[in-house]
Formats: sequence, structure tokens, C-alpha cells
Amino acid sequence: MITEKCVTCDVDTRVAVNRNVEFRPFYVIGVGQLCRDCYLKTVKNVMVCGYCGEDTSNEDPSMLYAQDHIDCTLEVLRRTNRIKPL
Ligand SMILES: [Zn+2]
Ligand SMILES: [Zn+2]
Repeated sequence: MITEKCVTCDVDTRVAVNRNVEFRPFYVIGVGQLCRDCYLKTVKNVMVCGYCGEDTSNEDPSMLYAQDHIDCTLEVLRRTNRIKPL
């Protein structure tokens, strides 16, 4: 898997380059892909899943849909019959 580097500190963000930017954690429109640390320092100092309310700042980026858990997001989409986002 090829992953993005943080635009600020050049560290590996572990976010796949082929992932739609809309669904990436730590991605800022107009800035680019940030790592977890830079994102938490410069954008938001908290990351919480909007569905279950748990802290997602320590989750694996590949398990996140923006700042929400992919599992929680898919569960809600399934319940509301919306299209799978990924
Ligand atoms: Zn960084
Ligand atoms: Zn969740």
C-alpha cells in the first residue's frame, strides 16, 4: 500500500494515496494530507466519532472515515439504506 506523507512534517500518515480525500482522516481541503500529530495540533485538538462518541485520535487511519469509525459510519448507512461510501 502506498501511503501519503504529511504535508507539514513529511512523516508517513498511513493513509492510502488512492483513497478518496473526502473519506480520509487528517485531510484538510486546501492544505492536503496531514499526519495525526499535525492534524491534532493545527486543526482540531480532539477527534471523536460522531456516531459512538469515542475518541478516535488513536485509531488506525485505515479504520476511520474522516474522524468517524468506518464501522459506525457503515452501520448508520446500512440502517438508513444509503450507499456504501468506500
Ligand atoms: Zn505531520
Ligand atoms: Zn464510532
